[in-house]
Amino acid sequence: MIPGPDIVIACPACGALHRYASLRSGNSFGAWGWTDGRVVSPLLPDRPRITRCHACGGFVWVYRAEEVGTLTEARVFEPVYEIIVEHEGPRRVDVMARLRDRSKQSFAEVKELLARAPVVVARDVFEDEARRLVQSLQDAGASASMRRQVIDTGKTPEGPPPEWKSAPYVTHLSERELLAAIAEGVAESWEDACYLRVQAWWAGNEPFRRTEVPWVPWAERSPEARENLRALAAQLSERDPVERLMKAEALRELECFDEARAVFQAGLPKGFEQAAAFIRALAEQGIAELRQLPPTERPEPSR
Ligand SMILES: [Zn+2]
Repeated sequence: MIPGPDIVIACPACGALHRYASLRSGNSFGAWGWTDGRVVSPLLPDRPRITRCHACGGFVWVYRAEEVGTLTEARVFEPVYEIIVEHEGPRRVDVMARLRDRSKQSFAEVKELLARAPVVVARDVFEDEARRLVQSLQDAGASASMRRQVIDTGKTPEGPPPEWKSAPYVTHLSERELLAAIAEGVAESWEDACYLRVQAWWAGNEPFRRTEVPWVPWAERSPEARENLRALAAQLSERDPVERLMKAEALRELECFDEARAVFQAGLPKGFEQAAAFIRALAEQGIAELRQLPPTERPEPSR
């Protein structure tokens, strides 16, 4: 996993700043999967698509929020140079003209400056421009060079505002918050609605991913949580293999075993058969508990 720069976003309601870590590259190596479709990937951080604003409490779609900036370390510490004229050479007027072009100083000021050579004639110049300026002065016959400036935080070009660096990272919503977001109607598309329902389902199953926590049937969960899983099962299409697998699993967990088995009547494409067989076998035995998929039976993570 290679992390990318942090992206700073603003809450669309109140403008409060938040940030999230971007990713240059990652992979699902070492990932393990569960029957409910959740894949835990140690090398692929699970970043929330929706969060709650730390200031106003409103829901914020992370990737749709206004991007305020990027915290790129390279830009903060981009080196700057000072330009030194050691000797003006035989064509003083030419050298003066080139310095005046850049600095807009008066003829007298530039003349006075060069009289003190070796002297620093420019500061805080980025590398490309520094090279051009040195070349231009040398073309005019001067002896000139550039020297990397020691970073003095008071003098470096502006870094990102301190409030960017202190912006808190976006956090995942809890099951209760996800259910509240659904009730509030924050979904803007079918994908949003599906994402919220799946996230709420997974969040509700989270405690049972630890072996020591006994399964609590959906019949004993909150009515909102149960209703969410029912709505999701109804919403998922049987045409898409991933959705079909999740639909069957939702029905199995809801103890609708016959309906779950019926979803598998048509075969699934390669890569899904083993997970399907595993879930189907559980449905046939009347088992509703969440299970970890055996290593050889994990479907390809759908990220
Ligand atoms: Zn806000």
